[in-house]
Amino acid sequence: EADRFDAIVIGAGAAGLMAAATAAQRGRRVLLVDHARNPGEKIRISGGGRCNFTNLGVEPARFLSGNPKFCISALKRYTQWDFIDLVTRHGIAWHEKTLGQLFCDGSARQIVSMLVGEAQAAGVRLILGRSVSDITQSDGTYRVTLDGGTVSAPKLVVACGGKSIPKMGASSFGYEVAARFGVPVTETRPALVPLTFAHQELDHLKPLAGLSCPARVGCNGTTFDEALLFTHRGLSGPSILQISSYWREGDSLRVQLAPETDIADALRLARSRRGGQMPATVLSRILPERLAQHVCQRWGGTGRIGDQSETQITALADAAANWVVTPVGSEGYRTAEVTLGGVDTDALDSRTMEVRTVPGLHFIGEVVDVTGWLGGYNFQWAWSSGWAVGQAL
Ligand code: FAD
Repeated sequence: EADRFDAIVIGAGAAGLMAAATAAQRGRRVLLVDHARNPGEKIRISGGGRCNFTNLGVEPARFLSGNPKFCISALKRYTQWDFIDLVTRHGIAWHEKTLGQLFCDGSARQIVSMLVGEAQAAGVRLILGRSVSDITQSDGTYRVTLDGGTVSAPKLVVACGGKSIPKMGASSFGYEVAARFGVPVTETRPALVPLTFAHQELDHLKPLAGLSCPARVGCNGTTFDEALLFTHRGLSGPSILQISSYWREGDSLRVQLAPETDIADALRLARSRRGGQMPATVLSRILPERLAQHVCQRWGGTGRIGDQSETQITALADAAANWVVTPVGSEGYRTAEVTLGGVDTDALDSRTMEVRTVPGLHFIGEVVDVTGWLGGYNFQWAWSSGWAVGQAL
């Protein structure tokens, strides 16, 4: 007969580790399985190696989901403060960077060690480097076939994450399990991802690759004020990663470079005070120099500023402050930080993460159709949904 547990958690990432530790601390016999050789690999590489583990400003409005209310229960019951407490109890030093984003002072590995330590101390059995080849359910028992044996439990938690960064162990397995049990999955797409341009636009913008500046980027009624980065394929930087979750093929972005400055006013002031300057000189006090030159070359600011008509000033200012661009695509799952969409929240109980029609089957973390903004929100969803299921097992 199969090795029997109270619960089997598939995926030893952020959500799975939290769920397994929480359930085991409540006395449950928990098996945590992952096909990767190490647990928490995405935590380890996150936040440039320092893990942006949560955000001081966590609130439901910073998550995208078919049902924007779904995330409220878990986020309220296990908050950013609860995770900050855990981190602090483990003596992990952290700091706020910008916009409420909390990072480790040292290394993201500290977060992985903390979670693995919590799980092991509570008696979680961890099996790594083994793939799940089959899952069946009958008489209230889930039987999971791993290469080399079968394990069983009355509860199964799917914490397999999203599709991004396949070379780190990401797979579509969670969505396949959903399909197998008749659980609906909404359309999935790469998010928090750089956007790309058609060749025509790129010919103009390629010389700017590597430049970064503050920007206000808007699409479909949502705007982000964060840095923008020109790349050799299009645009990136936090403002673009954020807006990528709201952008769809065919949509344009409205970009305002240096949003803190009224560029038209600055150009007019320069025209009236020191008309002998070149417009590029004026703009380079507001924008990176190469970008200022590009704007002037492309949009006609080549004569002295004193000779520019009002129409020319407006055209120049609009080129920087009212730039409308239409990306053709994104860099895809190869570089996306998260997957938008996933297991349909309408199918789940928001308190227990259990599938309403399939008793004992739960989905947590990124595989669920709840996607946070950039800035520590996705980990907070993993911690909160993991904790919620840990209470329910
Ligand atoms: P994961 O952490 O991805 O864990 C899923 C686990 O399931 C993995 O261990 C995987 O090996 C395992 N698995 C998959 N398929 C199978 C299978 N068939 N069998 C067994 N096991 C399987 N978010 C933030 O909030 N802050 C950040 O700083 C941040 N930085 C990021 C940087 C990068 C480069 C990337 C890619 C993402 C970043 N994210 C960040 C997003 C964050 O990593 C994810 O949202 C989060 O890890 C999701 O947690 P999860 O437990 O649902 O999935």
